[in-house]
Amino acid sequence: MNILLLGGGGREHALAWKLAQSPLVKTLYAAPGNPGIAQHAALVDLDVTDHRAVVDFCLRQSIGLVVIGPEAPLVEGLADNLRVKGYPVFGPGKKAAQLEGSKGFTKDLCKRAGIPTAAYERVHSKDGAIAALDDFGLPVVIKADGLAAGKGVIIAETREEAVEALESMFSGAFGGAGAEVVLEEFMTGEEASFFALTDGKAILPFGSAQDHKRVGDGDTGPNTGGMGAYSPARVLTPELEAEVMERIIRPTVDTLAAEGTPYSGVLYAGLMLTSEGPKLIEYNARFGDPECQVLMMRFDGDLAALLLAVAQGRLADQGPVQLAGRTALTIVMAARGYPGTPEKGGEISGIDAAEAGGARVFHAGTAEKDGVLVANGGRVLNVTATGDSVSEAQAAAYRAVDAISFPTGFCRRDIGWREVARETR
Ligand code: ATP
Repeated sequence: MNILLLGGGGREHALAWKLAQSPLVKTLYAAPGNPGIAQHAALVDLDVTDHRAVVDFCLRQSIGLVVIGPEAPLVEGLADNLRVKGYPVFGPGKKAAQLEGSKGFTKDLCKRAGIPTAAYERVHSKDGAIAALDDFGLPVVIKADGLAAGKGVIIAETREEAVEALESMFSGAFGGAGAEVVLEEFMTGEEASFFALTDGKAILPFGSAQDHKRVGDGDTGPNTGGMGAYSPARVLTPELEAEVMERIIRPTVDTLAAEGTPYSGVLYAGLMLTSEGPKLIEYNARFGDPECQVLMMRFDGDLAALLLAVAQGRLADQGPVQLAGRTALTIVMAARGYPGTPEKGGEISGIDAAEAGGARVFHAGTAEKDGVLVANGGRVLNVTATGDSVSEAQAAAYRAVDAISFPTGFCRRDIGWREVARETR
């Protein structure tokens, strides 16, 4: 079977690495890919916003499975346009991808399905939103409805801050994403991510993770796409995982199916572990980046067979997802300036030395220039290692980081700190 993988980040490098190990795969193509993905796949120059071009490519190369990595093509309906032509796709169609594409859509679904989540109100104008603030305590959470690359959420500590945030959102600071806003009650607890595959009927848990959103050590500084992650997240005990499956994931899948918009792909639930039990913060319609990298480090099965079973609605025939019990931890090496304007062109070497000890270095924003690997984006490398504990995986991952020369790069030095503190208590 030939597979087309869409995307070019560390998430897609991890997916490509696993897909290429499957005996089912004849040729793996990737668009746009990156130099790391090129070790496992043939890179193709395809514009994913041009759905007809993607369909034409699938026809020419007899593609048997399309795996869509990032959210934007899902929200734009690429999966639907491929499915109508008969191509199996891993990833939800446009309507079901609203779970990520519209926070209001997800909150309404939670209400219909009785899924535990923060109290909320959808608001469509600045004045309506300011009036609705009276229904919430402080702090209050203010979210642009649409995709805003992780930047559309403001936690306002005072009413003045809330009014300022609403004024900025309704003045078009987030473009179309801010035309509607969701106000939410502030929840307290520890956050964890939970992943499940579904074909719209059957559901298979795919493990848990915790990420680190802030750019600086000690969770300081601005938010990023994620500076590191580890899996499993032990705070999400087997009992809590069962509760998440029963009270959050199962009702989501069943309600969407009953309403004629079945969800097929991976459901990535952002959870708050509150004193009242796990509550849904948000859904994403794809694997997380960098959470995917740690999940793939632990995954033991045939990824192509599993994703094809999801795409073809045969998930019920699959056994449980096989995940190694060891902890995997990934550290993001970013280019100086990130998450603002990252410095491009910084030279990178030492990846072989980093991998010699068993770590894996997934490429994100890299490029090859005159035979030299250089930085070509904000998040550049994901240095990933395993261990019998988070402390062990962390030590192995930082040993690998220290074997890499990337003078214009930086990373956090405390990935996994929460769990390391628990382990050494
Ligand atoms: P991401 O980049 O994770 O996809 P996003 O922009 O889609 O983020 P959310 O995940 O909904 O937005 O929120 C981002 C962060 O804001 C959460 O990880 C959490 O820390 C915080 N947050 C969101 N909603 C709440 C809430 N109701 N109570 C407390 N914190 C919240």
